[in-house]
Amino acid sequence: MNEFISKRNETVAKNMIPFLEKRGFEGYFAKDKEEAKKIALDLIKEGSSVTWGGTVSAEEIGLKSALKEGNYVVYDRAEAKNEDEVQEIYRKAYFCDYFLASANAITEKGEIVNIDGNANRVSAIAFGPKNVLFIVGVNKIVKDVEDGLTRARNYSAPINGMRLGLSTPCAKTGVCMDCMAPDCMCCQFMITRKSKVPGRIKVILVNENLGF
Ligand code: SF4
Repeated sequence: MNEFISKRNETVAKNMIPFLEKRGFEGYFAKDKEEAKKIALDLIKEGSSVTWGGTVSAEEIGLKSALKEGNYVVYDRAEAKNEDEVQEIYRKAYFCDYFLASANAITEKGEIVNIDGNANRVSAIAFGPKNVLFIVGVNKIVKDVEDGLTRARNYSAPINGMRLGLSTPCAKTGVCMDCMAPDCMCCQFMITRKSKVPGRIKVILVNENLGF
């Protein structure tokens, strides 16, 4: 990343930390992927049970593999042998010590925007796991909730649709067509505005482009 773009993004991300704290979240800044992984592994104590929703960011910083290789109880739906096992892992998430997620967008004031088709991800973010750890690249920072929803539906969703081979209009056109397709990823829109349980939601803002 260009030096001045990086400096600008670092300033914006660091200025967001007080807003995150005000919302009952814990906020962290990481200068790169390696530091983000270190912060995450310092937070997640050995022996913890951990799972995740569809998060490319946690994979890109090497966190998923570090947890699998370490002393943790990991439930990875990618390793499920069939749909029943996937559903079982979705339900186990509610009792885990940590749920890892990224965000479709995060506003400069710290509101976290997510859309979901199955709703396993947004439901676990809202309630269940003792801790929710967001790994969020600076590319996900937007001005406000409206911009966040626009980003989620016109950027994240089409790419996810293409990646997962879904039969949605956005996977063909690259933009949201406000569909009601069976594969629709936009069944639930969630804005995480505040954490009722102080510190349950932790956000690591990473000064790199992560996920989409
Ligand atoms: S509503 Fe449909 S077309 Fe629009 S982003 Fe969601 S899945 Fe894609």
